[in-house]
Amino acid sequence: MNRDMRVSIKTVLFLGIAAAIAWVGIRFLIKKPHHDRVNYGHYKLDAIYNKENIIPVIVVGSGPAGLSAALYGARSGFHTVVFEGAKPGGQLMGTSFVENWPGLPKKMGPDLIASLKGQAQEFGAVIVNETIKSIDTKQWPYVLTTENGKTLHALTVILATGATARQLDVPGKDEYFGWDKGISTCAICDAPFYKGKEVFVIGGGDSAAEEAMQLAPYASKITVLVRAKTMRASAVMQDRLKTYPNITVQYNSFITAYKGDGKRMTEVELMVDGKPSKAKLDGVFLAVGHDPNSELVKGVVSLDSAGFVLLKGRSQATSVPAIYAAGDVADHKYRQAGIASGDGIKAGLDAVEFLRMIGFNDAVAAKVEDNLFDAEGGPGRQALSPLKKMADFEKVAAESDLPILLDFYTESCPTCMQLLPTLEILAGEFADQMKFFKVDLMEVPEFQAKYKIVGVPTVLILKKGEDIGRIQKPMPLKDMRSFLEKTLKGGE
Ligand code: NDP
Repeated sequence: MNRDMRVSIKTVLFLGIAAAIAWVGIRFLIKKPHHDRVNYGHYKLDAIYNKENIIPVIVVGSGPAGLSAALYGARSGFHTVVFEGAKPGGQLMGTSFVENWPGLPKKMGPDLIASLKGQAQEFGAVIVNETIKSIDTKQWPYVLTTENGKTLHALTVILATGATARQLDVPGKDEYFGWDKGISTCAICDAPFYKGKEVFVIGGGDSAAEEAMQLAPYASKITVLVRAKTMRASAVMQDRLKTYPNITVQYNSFITAYKGDGKRMTEVELMVDGKPSKAKLDGVFLAVGHDPNSELVKGVVSLDSAGFVLLKGRSQATSVPAIYAAGDVADHKYRQAGIASGDGIKAGLDAVEFLRMIGFNDAVAAKVEDNLFDAEGGPGRQALSPLKKMADFEKVAAESDLPILLDFYTESCPTCMQLLPTLEILAGEFADQMKFFKVDLMEVPEFQAKYKIVGVPTVLILKKGEDIGRIQKPMPLKDMRSFLEKTLKGGE
C-alpha cells in the first residue's frame, strides 16, 4: 500500500466517523426526548366542576377490547361507561366457537361476550345501548355527543370501535347486498336460510374457512373461492375443511360481477385461471378482511393510511392525551379477540394512570358525584315476552286492541341479539301503545310462511292481524323509535 492510499483510507474513515457523530447529534436535537410525555399539569380538575354528564372513563364500543377496558376502569374504582354502538358485542357475536382464547378451550362467541359484559358490570361498569356520534377535543374534559343528542364530558376516552367486514367492489354489490338478496358477511346469521342451496364463500383466510364450516350443515354445495394459489388460513383450519364432503376450495378465482333479477342475486361472473366464467348460485358469503371503524375519530387522532388508529410505543395512547385505542380499530395485523382484550386491559390501565396523575381521587369523585353521567332516566327496559306456539299468538291477537310487535329471531343469529336491547328499550317507552313479543323462528316455523318471513332478524308490526310495518335489519335506537312513531300514526 503506498502513502497516498493510506492517506485516502484515513480520510474516508475520518469523514465516516464525523458523519456518524453529526447524525447522532442531529437526531438528538430533533428527537426532543420528552415529546411524547403527557403534560398532566395541563389537565386542571377545576375544569370539571361546572360540567354535567361527567364520565371519568368512557369506552366507545363493546367487543372484547371495550369490555376488558371497562372491567379495568371500573375495577379500579372509576365511574366507567361503555357505549355499545350499533353492533353491541362486535364481531364475536358472529363467531361460533372461540377455541383460541387462552385458558378457555371452547366457548361460543356470544357467550364469551356475555361473560365479559357481566364481569365488567359486576365491578360497576355501566353499559349503555347508544352510539357516540362525535368527539370534540378542543377543550378538556372532551365533549362527546350521542346519536340521541346527549352531551357528555369525558376525562378519558377509550376507542374500541373494532372493524367491519369488507365488501367486494364489483357491479351489483349494492343491489344484492343483504341476507335476503344473496350477499352476506355473516354465515352464522344467515346459514339456516341456505338449506339445500349452492353458495360461494369468498376469501382464503381463517374467516373464510370458518364461514364455510358454518354453512356446511345447511348448504348443499359450498365453494370457497380463493383468488391466490394458496389459502392463507391456518393449516388446522385447512385440514378441517377437507373433512366436509360438501366443501371444495377453488383457487385462482375471483368474482367480477353479481347478477340477478333485480330482487335476488342468481349468478356471478368470475375470472378462473385468468379466463372469464359464470356460475349460477344462491348466495355469496364474504370473508375478505375488515376495515377499521375509525370514521368517528378521523381528524381527531392520528390514523395510518388504511385508517387504523396510530398508537404510541407499547402503550394504547393515541396522538391525543387521554384518548386511548384498543382492539381491531388500532390493529391491522393480529386481529384476535384475545389480543383485543389484552389491548383493552392496557387501555384501561392507561386511562386509570391518567386519572391518577391529574389527581382525580375519591375526594374529587365525591365532589362531582351529582354531576356524573347517569345512564338511567326515561322508562327502563322491558323484556319481550316469548311466544312459544302459534296458538299463543292467536290468543294474544284476539284479546288485544293495541298493535302487536313481533321480533323474529334465531338463537344463532348475532344480529338478532344485537337488536334485542334496542327493542327492550322501546318496549319500555311504548308500553301503553303497543305489545312486544319475540318469536324463535326455529321453534315456531309456522310464522315463516304465514307472514312471509325470509330471514332474521325481522320485526313485524301487526294491527288487527294486518301487516302495518316491517324492519329487516338492526337500526340505531333513534331511527327505530321514529319508525315506530310513524307506524303508529299510520304512515311509514
Ligand atoms: P385475512 O386478512 O386473513 O384474509 C382475507 C382473505 O381475503 C385473504 O385470503 C385475501 O386474499 C382475501 N381477499 C382480500 N380481498 C379480496 C378480494 N377483493 N377478492 C378476493 N379475495 C380477497 O382475514 P380474515 O378475516 O380471514 O382473518 C383475519 C385475522 O383473524 C387472521 O389473523 C385470522 O387468523 C384471524 N381469525 C381467526 C379465526 C380462528 O382462529 N377461529 C377465525 C377468523 C379469523 P389474499 O390471501 O390473496 O390476500
